[in-house]
Amino acid sequence: MRPTDEEIRRAAYARWERRGWSHGGDRDDWFAAWADLTFRALYGTTVDHVMDGTGPRLIGESPARRCRFCERKAGPNGLGAPRPIFAGHPVPLSAEVCDDCRADWCDGLDDAFRELWTRLVIGEVGRSTFHVAAFKAMAAGGLLMMPASDLRYYGDALEWVSNPDHDSDDRLIEGAAFRVYRAPFLGRTPRLSLLRRLDDEATVPYMLLFIEADGIMVQAPMPMCLRDEDLDGQAIDHPERILADGYGHSYREASSELFPLTTSTRRTRRISWIPAVA
Ligand SMILES: [Zn+2]
Repeated sequence: MRPTDEEIRRAAYARWERRGWSHGGDRDDWFAAWADLTFRALYGTTVDHVMDGTGPRLIGESPARRCRFCERKAGPNGLGAPRPIFAGHPVPLSAEVCDDCRADWCDGLDDAFRELWTRLVIGEVGRSTFHVAAFKAMAAGGLLMMPASDLRYYGDALEWVSNPDHDSDDRLIEGAAFRVYRAPFLGRTPRLSLLRRLDDEATVPYMLLFIEADGIMVQAPMPMCLRDEDLDGQAIDHPERILADGYGHSYREASSELFPLTTSTRRTRRISWIPAVA
């Protein structure tokens, strides 16, 4: 599944050509070609929705029948009004979340997501940007978007996102990290996508979520997947996409930066407590 030297050579040449044959940057051409081909060998697109109003407004395979999180069935009036998958982005909507889940935990995650997105857009990104509630908000959106047939791998994740205690089960999300891509051309067509792993031997998460809008794109792993049990205890890779726009002098590539998840407040407290006793 890994790209061959010949494939990388050809792709590096194509990038050089696209950059307008400007000299210098051979190594960058090679690295970008390698990273791009590697990513394409690892992942295929499973779900892709544009968020500019031209795509479907309502997604989900059984609208208004059953809540994906608590499995409550809809009464005669359905589960309640459809809700945006990601707060602050009016489309797409999902009807597969009930009013009780909304009141108990969804609304809180919406606030966390709005705060996260604002900080990312203005570039105020630091070590505590990706906290557990923000991760849950992204994971909940991913769970609403994914094909129903994949939900069977995410039983623990469905329970975890709907638990308002953000300290519980945090061992299961250790090693999670998020990529933030940044470029003026990102989000020209805002979109949401889920990509599924093609190579089960690779030490990468089974599914990745991408949220692209407002000049940024976030790459988040979908957590607690049964298909990822083999990754337990292994170093997980966070592969990088190469996103480019334009030709010649106007050729531009998005920058990308990796941020680890900031986990448990409990653990921080425990660490600061130990020296006091010693
Ligand atoms: Zn529910």
